[in-house]
Amino acid sequence: MNTNHNNSIGCIVNECKFHAKDTNYCTLDKIRVTKHESMAKDVQCTDCGSFMKE
Ligand code: SF4
Repeated sequence: MNTNHNNSIGCIVNECKFHAKDTNYCTLDKIRVTKHESMAKDVQCTDCGSFMKE
């Protein structure tokens, strides 16, 4: 259980080592949001670049 989550970063990716687990937030102070197309056209083109597998 990790209660030190960042209220400004909601996240449902509970496979990530930085996910708060007990609540749908990230525990990092800052994340990097990335895109994997040269021109992002929709939400599917964006990702969390700070994700790390547990
Ligand atoms: S690093 Fe990204 S994917 Fe991982 S918990 Fe934080 S916001 Fe979610």
